[in-house]
Amino acid sequence: MTAPEVAVTAAPSPSVPSTLGQDALDRAARGERLDAAELESLYHLPLPEVAAVAHGLRLERRDPDVVTFLIDRNINYTNICNVGCNFCAFYRTKRQADAYTLDYAQLSHKIRELEAVGGTRILLQGGVNPELGLDYYLGMLRHVKAHHPTIRIDAFSPEEVLFMEKAFGLSLDELLDRLIEAGLDGLPGAGGEILEDDVRRKAAPARIRSEDWFRIIDAAQRRGLYTIATMVIGFGETYAQRVSHLLKIRAQQDKAQREYGGNGFFGFALWTLQTENTRLAGKAPGATAHEYLQQLAVARIALDNLHNLQASWPAQGFKVGQAALYYGANDLGSTMLEENVVSAASGNGRHQATVRELVRIAVDAGFTPAIRNSRFEIIEWPDVETILHRAPSNPEAGRGVGASA
Ligand code: SF4
Repeated sequence: MTAPEVAVTAAPSPSVPSTLGQDALDRAARGERLDAAELESLYHLPLPEVAAVAHGLRLERRDPDVVTFLIDRNINYTNICNVGCNFCAFYRTKRQADAYTLDYAQLSHKIRELEAVGGTRILLQGGVNPELGLDYYLGMLRHVKAHHPTIRIDAFSPEEVLFMEKAFGLSLDELLDRLIEAGLDGLPGAGGEILEDDVRRKAAPARIRSEDWFRIIDAAQRRGLYTIATMVIGFGETYAQRVSHLLKIRAQQDKAQREYGGNGFFGFALWTLQTENTRLAGKAPGATAHEYLQQLAVARIALDNLHNLQASWPAQGFKVGQAALYYGANDLGSTMLEENVVSAASGNGRHQATVRELVRIAVDAGFTPAIRNSRFEIIEWPDVETILHRAPSNPEAGRGVGASA
């Protein structure tokens, strides 16, 4: 496939009056809502000043002592995909030797490993595989509910839902109802990247457009499904495009809180573009740790109606992930007993964590760790003393260690 034309410069920095940024930051510190120009001005202020306000808002909006995380497993039921995003190193065509589609027995094997370490949810996502029929999807959900009744299923990105909608001739509402009836609990908001079509067209010409992404998320929220909002930076997008992405999410959250009984986005996950083994390698600028932390802080200030922000240790590594707890994040995501998509394009970050590792990150940063479910409700307080004083090599020390299939 021909290499795409992708902007190679980092986000441009148009000059803005310095007083706008300072005034905006003062307003944010008072809990006031910022508009697009004000949010854009924050990128031109010293990061420690923006971070201090973001962290202050995090302390006000979530328990100031607690950092949460989830024990879960990402299961990618197929890597066959016909969308072919330029930033994806995970997908295969059906003729490639390592193309796969899991059968239900393989799926159960992976879930039993998760159950053995106390996990409570699977993130079930895959490529857009035109060989699969509706029965495969419905059967997969029914199989998990029948054989693993304590496991919550958050499944299918808006991209996969769009495929099903078109391929199976169902309206979106009918499709979601069928999936919910079969066992779907949530629709993770994967594939958000930057919800500006100029950016999306360059990075992935066949990728779901932002209008469809929001249409599908909106329908899921209306039906009471769990969703989260996602963002990826480093495509060469401008600050204005990043702010536009955040404001669209904030507007959707306002709508969900107003019209769907508060069932909007439960969390927000930001990470940086990983390009290793992809067609964007050497062509997209990516984002440094400074840019990541800056973007996280701006997101905390922008998203005044969405209170759980995740630290991205999988893309940033544990050290930057821990620092993120002082730039607006209040959550460490999940242990990710298995992760295949980000890891396929990244040699830098970590792709799974033990409970011991996440507990240590939280404790050393000055917080009390808590295990949550996917709706960010605390379900367990880990025994910190016992966990941290065990040898790391002891399997009992870290549920979730080294068990990927
Ligand atoms: S990111 Fe998803 S939709 Fe895009 S190529 Fe990879 S698996 Fe397919």
